[in-house]
Formats: sequence, structure tokens, C-alpha cells
Amino acid sequence: MSPAQAQIVETIRQRFGDRAVTEDAETISPWLSDWRDRYHGAAPAMLMPASRDEVAAMVTLANEARVALVPQGGNTGMVGGATPPEDGSALLLSLRRMNRIRSISAEANLAVAEAGVILANLRDAAESAGRRFPMDLGARGSATIGGLVSTNAGGTQVLRFGTMRSLVAGVEAVLPDGSVHDGLAALKKDNRGYDLTQLLIGAEGTLGIVTAATLRLVPALAARAVAWVGLETPAKALALLRAIEAKTDAIESFEILPSDVLDLVLGHVPGTRAPLAVRHAWHVLIEAVATDSAAEPPAALLERLLAPALESQLIGDAVIAASEAQAEAFWKIRHSISESERAAGPAVQHDISVPVDAMPRFMVDGAAQAEARFPGTRAIAFGHLGDGNVHFHVAAPKGADPDIFYATQAQPITRMVHDMVVAAGGSISAEHGIGQMKRAELERLGPPSRIATLRAIKAALDPRGILNPGKLVALAPEAPTP
Ligand code: FAD
Repeated sequence: MSPAQAQIVETIRQRFGDRAVTEDAETISPWLSDWRDRYHGAAPAMLMPASRDEVAAMVTLANEARVALVPQGGNTGMVGGATPPEDGSALLLSLRRMNRIRSISAEANLAVAEAGVILANLRDAAESAGRRFPMDLGARGSATIGGLVSTNAGGTQVLRFGTMRSLVAGVEAVLPDGSVHDGLAALKKDNRGYDLTQLLIGAEGTLGIVTAATLRLVPALAARAVAWVGLETPAKALALLRAIEAKTDAIESFEILPSDVLDLVLGHVPGTRAPLAVRHAWHVLIEAVATDSAAEPPAALLERLLAPALESQLIGDAVIAASEAQAEAFWKIRHSISESERAAGPAVQHDISVPVDAMPRFMVDGAAQAEARFPGTRAIAFGHLGDGNVHFHVAAPKGADPDIFYATQAQPITRMVHDMVVAAGGSISAEHGIGQMKRAELERLGPPSRIATLRAIKAALDPRGILNPGKLVALAPEAPTP
């Protein structure tokens, strides 16, 4: 530990007690690698504030001493954003002790949750208040509000409710100099110039430490129905979505996966079974909802809308969950993909978006091109088709050594996939962010004006570069990677 770090740790211990900081290697160790185990860092201490004021004091000390901080919530991020640098030059700043829901109001349709509140707990609290927080993803049992805000997370309800950005009505954060941005008031109209709250959403901890957020709630569900559909191509899946959307606005999720991915989950997660008896090349999971118990039941609605699709052979088969348990079983398949894929062996992941109408072709042609260029690999695309966002993963050839595969193949594969994405007018990060994984690619693909603006914003707010260095954008341009 450097003398400056040791001084900060000592001061924090004196001011806030032993619970606010630890140097215990065993306690810190699980938080030094990312969820996928691709990035490994070091940190001589982990700071654990319990309040906004404690965060402000810690950031002030770090800024004065020019010691870097890496904010961390549930550590479920997919781009190494919460992993500290390997050289031990940064302290971890865990927000997990700040786990209070400060208020929840069905009348205002708002909840104010601290950064360390776990998504599943907020969803439960909203339900107890007769409302819903419409954000869901596989990591709901660990991902925190601070992490979700800071990555502008997506998930499986974006189709209807948008990403985290549209669910956040206000943010409270500590800025790099230790001052507090109190933007929790949920004002519908507020035109006082640049919107700092919006800037902090998706900033990946590089511009401020989110300490709390005001979150929008939506009406509770009277009923929901979940359908599992088998069909031939992503193009047919998109045609199905468009046909359904023309008749109803009750569709909340529309997720696609190929049969390979279904097989992966069935092989990895005990108790899961294929929803349809016959094998189909592609599968779609659809959720329809009703907030009014007098409205057409969602199951009847789905049945009515899927029948003509079946008749016209747009789809091959479909089943509507007959019970809530079966609906949960369908969703379990979807939410277990990341975990099953991680267990299946090395793969280079890409979280990409292209215009929705271009996505079906991208999923099929892009995968074929990647497999042709890198013989033995298997390219799979799955996820949020209706958002024009899929996870495009290129798995190593069978039996490949993970270290050699990542060292020799990861960069050329990623470059190829990202070049295809840019050519299709898309984004190399749809919902996971840039972190350390995609920083070089962001610099490579620009455009330069965008990178220069990101850098200028970073320099203006955090001129000493103390917040999450090495993530998203560097303060100064770096030499391009060969
Ligand atoms: P962390 O991983 O701890 O941190 C993520 C980033 O935010 C880091 O850069 C970190 O420095 C920063 N950060 C964390 N807390 C704060 C704070 N309080 N203030 C400032 N910066 C902070 N993501 C999706 O978008 N959609 C999905 O469908 C999805 N599915 C997933 C499924 C699984 C099984 C897993 C493991 C992950 C999935 N993710 C998904 C990724 C992940 O859950 C999200 O990125 C989530 O937002 C991360 O939250 P976290 O609390 O774990 O943040």
C-alpha cells in the first residue's frame, strides 16, 4: 500500500470505524475479479461507506491525495468496469452497505433507493407497495441500483419501458472533488442547462459516485402470460413482433435464442426442459401483460395473436405457459443463458446493437462470416431482438486452450465483429458499457469527435483522473493498439 493510500485508510478508520474499511485480503479477494473471470485486479483496501456523507468524505480524501477509487456495486458487470487495476494503485469503493430504500410512494409512482440496493429487493418493495419496477435481468439477485444506473443497464423489459435512463427520475452523486450533486427531486420539467443527472447515467463510475437514485414505478400487473414460440429464422421472429405490435401495446418482452443456446441451458441447469416437443432452429419468448383485470386476459390475447402466425406458417409452433410456475420455468431458461454459456468454455462476447430491421440479417450472416473466418469457432446470437440488441458470442473451437484462445483469437474476432457492427450502422456497446474490455475498440472506432467530447467531459469533472481510471475513456489519448 502506498503511503498516501495508508493515510486515507487510517483517516477513514478513525472517522468512521472498522466497518467502513478493510485491508483483509480474504474479504477483498472475491471483489478483485469480474463475473466472467476475465479481469483480475489488486486493491490494498476496500472502502465501505454507509452514507452519502461518508462517500463524500472518502472521495475528498482520495482527491486531495490523488489516490484512485474504483466504485463497485454487485460486481456483475460484463466489461471489467468494476475490477481495479492490476498494480494496486486504486482502492475499491464498495457501495453495498448503502442498501436502504429511503422512500417508496405509490402515489408519486417513485422510489428513492440507495446505490447498494439490490435490484430484486427493489422489485419486491415495489410489489409490496402495489407497483412495479420494470427492469429485470439475470443478475437481479446481485446487481445494485448504483451499478444499474452507472451502466445504463437494459434487460428484458426495455422493449416497453426503455433502459435504466428512462426509469431514473433523479440521481444523487458525489462528484470527483467530493462535492454532492443532489438531483433526487423528480422534476418533470427542469431546464437549467446541461443535465448532470443524465450525464451520470451510463458514466460507469468515471464522473461521480452514485449514492442514490429516484426511480420510476409503473402500475402493478393484474395478469401476465408467457409464450414460447419455435420458428425458422430471426427474420420471421421480427415479422412476428411487428405483426403483434400492430395489434397490441401489451407486449413487454420479446427475446430470441437459437436452438444451440437452448441446448446449452438444458445441459447446464438441472430441472430445465424444452418448452416445445419438436426442435426448431430459433425460439422466441414473449411476455404479454395486463394492468386492468377487466381487460382481455394476456393468455387469450397471445393465443389470438399467435393463431394467424401459426396458420400462415410464420411460426412453427407455440405454447403459452399454463401456470405462473411454467411461466417462471420459461423465463428461467432465458435468464440462465449467461451462466450456462460461461460454464461452456471460452467465448469472445460482444454486446451489440444495429438498427432493428437490420438485426435478423446480421444475426445470420454475421455469424456465418465469423465462423468462416475463424474455423472451428461457433458464433451465436441471442437476446433482445425487439431492441435491435443481441449478445453475439464467438465460442472457441472444441478443446481449445482458453489462455491461448483469448491471447491469439480474441482481438481479431472482436475487431471483425465490431467492424461488421459499424458497417451496419450499429453500436459496439448496446447495454453493458465500455469498461476496460471495450476501451481500445471505442478509441479505434470513434468517431474522433465523440471520443474527444467524452475526454473533455472527463477532464472537466475529474481532472486528476481519480474515479475509475482505465475505464471508458482515458484522460489523454493513448497510442493505438497494433
Ligand atoms: P458493478 O458490476 O459492480 O459495476 C458496474 C459498473 O458501474 C462499473 O464500472 C462500476 O465502477 C460502476 N458502478 C457500480 N456502482 C456504482 C456507483 N454506485 N456509482 C458509480 N459507479 C458505480 N446487463 C444488462 O444491461 N442487461 C442484461 O440483460 C444483463 N443480464 C445479465 C445477466 C447476468 C447473469 C449477469 C451476471 C449480468 C448481466 N448484465 C446485464 C450485466 C450487469 O448485471 C449490469 O451491468 C449491472 O448494471 C451491473 O450492476 P452491478 O451492481 O453489479 O455493478
